[in-house]
Amino acid sequence: MPGWVLMNRTLKSYSHMSPSPIPGFSANPPTACFCRDIQASLSLFVWSASLGPPSQTCPPAEIAEHTSTSPTHQFGQFTTDPNLMGKTWSSWRKGSVCHRVGINDYCVYMQSSFNKGQGISLVATSSTIDSLSKTRGFVNRLLITLDDSIAPVAPGILQTRPIKDKGLGVVAAGNTIKSNTKVMVDMPALMIDPRAFTDLSQELLSDLVTEAADMLPTASGDAFYDLSGGEGLPRDSQGRALAIIGKNAFRTKIGEQLEFHTVFLNVSRVNHACSPNVAYYFDPITMRKSLYAVQTIYPGEELTIGYVDLTQPSQTRQSSLSYWNFTCSCSRCTQPSRRLRESDDRTAQLLGIRNKLDQYDISLRDGQAMAELLIALYEIEGLEARIHEAYYRAAIEFNGVENRWKATKFARLCLDRGLLLKDETRPFVVQMRSLVEHPEGHWSWGFRLVGEQ
Ligand SMILES: [Zn+2]
Repeated sequence: MPGWVLMNRTLKSYSHMSPSPIPGFSANPPTACFCRDIQASLSLFVWSASLGPPSQTCPPAEIAEHTSTSPTHQFGQFTTDPNLMGKTWSSWRKGSVCHRVGINDYCVYMQSSFNKGQGISLVATSSTIDSLSKTRGFVNRLLITLDDSIAPVAPGILQTRPIKDKGLGVVAAGNTIKSNTKVMVDMPALMIDPRAFTDLSQELLSDLVTEAADMLPTASGDAFYDLSGGEGLPRDSQGRALAIIGKNAFRTKIGEQLEFHTVFLNVSRVNHACSPNVAYYFDPITMRKSLYAVQTIYPGEELTIGYVDLTQPSQTRQSSLSYWNFTCSCSRCTQPSRRLRESDDRTAQLLGIRNKLDQYDISLRDGQAMAELLIALYEIEGLEARIHEAYYRAAIEFNGVENRWKATKFARLCLDRGLLLKDETRPFVVQMRSLVEHPEGHWSWGFRLVGEQ
């Protein structure tokens, strides 16, 4: 009955509210400003806590995880100016506004040729700019020059369209998009040194971010001001740029030391769902944020990412999402009450199993069955964006009872999905590679059998 499947998928509704007008940034304290990242950090903590036997290092994987406007926006609009194609950028242009706090002098720095004319503006100190300019990607600028073969999105694949009750969203416009397919590549347009949020008053910060947005090339500045968060505030009003940043920024780390709150003009148009069909990965060297389908996406279906930790019960998710001023009405959140209860029960069990497995208690005897149930729970809850976390645990459990083939199978599955979203250096990738190459030499080999005859 393929018709049923298609209908189910096509009719799948992700209708939630888009953020309501924000009266001013003060309505959202700066520290709460980036709660999608706070949630990501929490999840990372959970994984970091999953240490193996003493002295062993086991592995993190974290989650990924925003909103839109302007029906006139076209993906790839920054790639069409032949004068800018392939041009390397000149040095940073410094803005006219600076605010000093102690030894930190925050100013605006901009390069207009970044990403083939999209431009990039930073609110940062000169030492941060120096450090950024010395990172691998900036030293070898070819690494971060988005070449012609990598448009933000293949033409005709996606389009921005009004979504019921959600403002604008991004939908699959052409053919069916298969899982594991890259659907979008984006680069930063505006980056803020996070220290500026604590060092500066809202008024001074607003000064700087407004200049940062205004210094972007015209098309990029227009696209920035079309993002959600500034509804109800005139473009030239103090606070609009800051309000937009508050609703659209992602935390990005570059190298060991540098961290920013970053706005991407295309990615920021993708709405939220609690069973998202897209996951993303930011490469700190190439400065590219890549979005991958993690489920099959049918024509007309909206692309969604998760803004918050999705392995939480519905109430917790809604509470976290209230930061964006909407009540999520995605398909996972709007099930009939008995099914929603069931979904919350499954989510609670998922968390319980994960926590249990992460204790690596050698007296646990059902670890493999628990890990297989964990995979099923991720699947039922539509958490494909993070399913590598469950595969990882299954690989460890089966290796723990010296079942090398099942351990290798789950390690392969973990790498297949995990490497879409994480880089080679992540501990969990290193762990799974090591297990695949030599299961018997991996720390987990037989650890569940210790003490057995
Ligand atoms: Zn939801």
